[in-house]
Amino acid sequence: MLRNDQLAEWDRENFFHASTHLAQHARGETPTRIITTGSGVYIEDRDGTRLLDAFAGLYCVNAGYGQSEITDAIADQARELAYYHAYAGHGTEASVTLAKMVIERAPANMSKVYFGLSGSDANETNIKLVWYYNNILNRPQKKKIISRWRGYHGSGLMTGSLTGLDLFHKKFDLPLSHVLHTQAPYYYHRADLDMDEAAFTAHCAAELEALIAREGADTIAAFIGEPVLGTGGIVPPPAGYWDAIQAVLRKHDILLIVDEVVTGFGRLGTPFGSDYYGLEPDLMTIAKGLTSAYAPLSGSIVSDKMWKVLEQGTDENGAFGHGWTYSAHPIGAAAGVANLNLIDKLGLVANAEKMGAYLLAALQDALGTHPHVGDIRGAGLLCAVEFVEDRDARAFFDPARKINVQVVAQMLQNGIIARAMPQGDIVGFAPPFCLTQSEADKIVAATKDAVQAVLG
Ligand code: PLP
Repeated sequence: MLRNDQLAEWDRENFFHASTHLAQHARGETPTRIITTGSGVYIEDRDGTRLLDAFAGLYCVNAGYGQSEITDAIADQARELAYYHAYAGHGTEASVTLAKMVIERAPANMSKVYFGLSGSDANETNIKLVWYYNNILNRPQKKKIISRWRGYHGSGLMTGSLTGLDLFHKKFDLPLSHVLHTQAPYYYHRADLDMDEAAFTAHCAAELEALIAREGADTIAAFIGEPVLGTGGIVPPPAGYWDAIQAVLRKHDILLIVDEVVTGFGRLGTPFGSDYYGLEPDLMTIAKGLTSAYAPLSGSIVSDKMWKVLEQGTDENGAFGHGWTYSAHPIGAAAGVANLNLIDKLGLVANAEKMGAYLLAALQDALGTHPHVGDIRGAGLLCAVEFVEDRDARAFFDPARKINVQVVAQMLQNGIIARAMPQGDIVGFAPPFCLTQSEADKIVAATKDAVQAVLG
């Protein structure tokens, strides 16, 4: 077996890591952590350290680690047929079955699912579908896409543009020209101190109206948003937000792309975030929870309304010129079928709802009166704690102090993985759906200890 220091050396010499401070890592200032195994909500590293993963990887291992029904399905599929493509009407039993399962779970107006590999590529697909749709409808100028500041939709060229976080734009020449950003629905950060949620919702809708008026509704094709802002800070929208936004979009004939990469398949305790907030998507983006990340697979779910136009487009122009080699990969599809069946069998969506409410209430009990805890918020099994220098004035810490990074590092010492969200002093929680009450208690106790150690 290879020694840990050998692996760390190879890692620094050869491995270009995702979302990593490259120079620090190359200098050996950040540790190489090699994860070896996992079971339920726990993972274990090569040193034998067992950690409770309160962020389910990257909020994706929804079914929990080490679920043999999923791994067996993957192995069986690999033995039987590891690969065939999905071009020109080809498929496998797994991909056809999974498509049916996805459409059965999706809102009633959804018609077909296109399978990709990542949330980013699914959103790239969605933008192409929107552009194609408007070209077929003979509206070639209606192409701009509105996203929100703090939205996260991936890190490709188009999807990195849609993402509304500075780190994903700076020095990459993004956002691209077709992308516009509007107000983040972030009541705690963006509303004036004397503004209630309803007034802030009205403000967000008015900002959107104003942007559409400035640009011209005939140039705007779609609006994209996550039901709950995820990577941008785990922020449920203010009361009435989605109703107000959908009214504006309908008025101007603007399509709605609901990015359900985090919220899809039960994270909020409902099948989709769209069910939770009463959204009527034209397109939906799915990934992560589709397979609980046991294999890479994503999807773009297309509504009846758009599907009819896509069909018309191919009658007029020939086959739909969009495909990946690995679209509907059989191993991913087999993982998806087994994962969704397992989640149903174990009642994990109901457990996510129950444990989400428990975790949020327990965090509020433990930290609600701490002078440097400004906001504790959540929906389903997705929640966050935000730190402030001054609660009453809602004054934030100097970002250079990286308070959330310090808190998360302290929690790790106590065996709990939480996520320091990339923008703002926010610690995020999104554990696997199989979380138990005693595991939730451990998360809360470690958070409280870490906050005390860092902030007193
Ligand atoms: N959309 C949302 C809401 C996400 O949270 C993510 C990833 O975290 C993506 C899209 C991009 O997915 P991927 O990292 O699989 O490309």
